[in-house]
Amino acid sequence: MQDCIFCKIHAGEAPSRKLGENETMFAIQDIKPHAPFHALIIPKKHVASLNDLSAEDRKKILPSMYDLAEELAVKNGIKERGYRCVINNQSEGGQVVFHLHMHMLGGASLKDNYF
Ligand code: 5GP
Ligand code: ZN
Repeated sequence: MQDCIFCKIHAGEAPSRKLGENETMFAIQDIKPHAPFHALIIPKKHVASLNDLSAEDRKKILPSMYDLAEELAVKNGIKERGYRCVINNQSEGGQVVFHLHMHMLGGASLKDNYF
């Protein structure tokens, strides 16, 4: 997808700090972290938002996001302490980048934080 920052990052045409990947997803560090650990888990395939997931893709893409989250949690030592996974959808959901992604935040207490 032209002019999509996450497609460009996936294609190696824009820089990022890679945190991991699996068959369908890749993970990068958020450029403006809201927690000591802030990853974005992103489908390799361009899907604009949760609203644009077909029923078939939903069954593949969402579980795969959580598979990579689990792997990152273990790898980064935050599984037992806990972490937060958030998908912002559309304008009132706070979505700014229209390539589906899940935020994964941890490394500090997020109890009083609305992110
Ligand atoms: P949204 O509000 O769409 O859920 O979140 C978009 C996120 O993408 C924001 O947290 C923002 O900091 C992050 N972001 C935007 N552009 C870039 C970029 O070029 N590189 C990285 N690593 N993160 C980005
Ligand atoms: Zn894209």
